[in-house]
Amino acid sequence: MTPPPSNKMSLETLIVGGGVAGLWVLDRLLENGHQAGLIEANALGQGQSVAAQGILHGGVKYALSGLLAPGVRQVARMPDVWATHLAGEARPDLSGVTVRSKACHLWRTDSMKSILGMTGAKLALKTKPTKLALKDRPAILRHCPGDVALLSERVIETPSLLRALSERNRDHLLQGRIIGGCARGDESTSPWVDVEVRGGEKIMLTCNLIILCAGGGNEALIEMLMPGDDLHRPAMQRRPLHMSMVKGPTEALPELNGHCVDGAATRVTITSSTAADGQRVWQLGGQLSETGCERDPEAQTEAARSCLRAVLPGFDVDTPRLSWSSYRIDRAEHRESHTTGTKRPDDVTVLRTREAIAVWPTKLVLAPRAAAMVSRLVGGGSGPSEPPFRDLPTPPIAEPPWEDAEWN
Ligand SMILES: Cc1cc2nc3c(=O)[nH]c(=O)nc-3n(C[C@H](O)[C@H](O)[C@H](O)COP(=O)(O)OP(=O)(O)OC[C@H]3O[C@@H](n4cnc5c(N)ncnc54)[C@H](O)[C@@H]3O)c2cc1C
Repeated sequence: MTPPPSNKMSLETLIVGGGVAGLWVLDRLLENGHQAGLIEANALGQGQSVAAQGILHGGVKYALSGLLAPGVRQVARMPDVWATHLAGEARPDLSGVTVRSKACHLWRTDSMKSILGMTGAKLALKTKPTKLALKDRPAILRHCPGDVALLSERVIETPSLLRALSERNRDHLLQGRIIGGCARGDESTSPWVDVEVRGGEKIMLTCNLIILCAGGGNEALIEMLMPGDDLHRPAMQRRPLHMSMVKGPTEALPELNGHCVDGAATRVTITSSTAADGQRVWQLGGQLSETGCERDPEAQTEAARSCLRAVLPGFDVDTPRLSWSSYRIDRAEHRESHTTGTKRPDDVTVLRTREAIAVWPTKLVLAPRAAAMVSRLVGGGSGPSEPPFRDLPTPPIAEPPWEDAEWN
């Protein structure tokens, strides 16, 4: 439906932000008969979702530190939930998503403690690590002195997830910039936003409810759409990361997905992808990326090299066939109160205030739980509607961070 000449539109529910959370919420609400649409300012998943390492965690990382918070149990359920979607047995049908690997490796740099003793005993995890015999280890982990285990945590390509989540609802997606509005409604006025779309055209959109799923963008949206009393507005925190990347031909950079753990910490998490030029890319996360916030890019690459030397004995880190890069990114999460520091949430945040709902899934793997919680809060809609944004600009899928990186 092209907007009427007055450029006014109305919807039952407006979602802002098209990362994994917003797209999953949109699909869920459409399934429940909501007249819903989603506005994305940039490209779908730009920010966290497209950069995510794509590991569908089952809770082992939490078990390493011995935590048994409520959120851990939720994460432990997630691999089974995703399995039904990836098999196309539940909506959204994610059978088109590229599953990079059906399992991750888990290994240590020393032989002092066994991985199985460290994790399995602490928590009734559904995805328990299975120790691998030396002959069954991948070549790249053959020289590790400690245990190497296999963990049935899938690794997915996140651009393919964003594609699968968005393609059936394309006409409910609008690329545009919110330039004003108010999430507060009463008997005489509805919540509204002014949206600038490509070419400078402006649309005024009214709705019954606004759901904020804009990741790090939620902070500015809350400021704009919910002005006033700080104490009653959802608060956000950012946890910065400095991610390293390595790129090279597949012979020099084998497929590897997994975590090297030291005590309770994940020293480095390595995931593999394929760049548009056909070369393999490793993303290096975990502690390396957390401590790396203090380092400049050159120092971070040096730290990444020495980390790989230590955790992958025998791997040729110095071959000129590899190139190196890094990028900075923030994890955006709910901050529990306006007075506390940056305590990590362990579960999804779905907060309904008088005016709107704010969503932070905390982890990509928890997106289905976030969508189910939103759906429970808002209930059923008034029935299916014409797609609201047909013939208006549709946001593209964001490019992964390695595509526009500078390589050294
Ligand atoms: C490096 C990294 C690795 C990670 N790895 C994993 C992992 O392996 N497994 C896991 O479970 N989790 C992982 N995570 C966490 C996971 O990526 C996030 O929890 C999840 O992607 C957040 O999704 P989101 O939709 O809330 O936010 P985002 O993905 O950030 O999406 C927000 C969207 O809103 C849009 N937007 C922003 N402002 C506005 C605005 N004003 N108007 C309209 N649109 C707006 C953005 O362009 C973006 O498309 C990782 C995170 C990072 C940073």
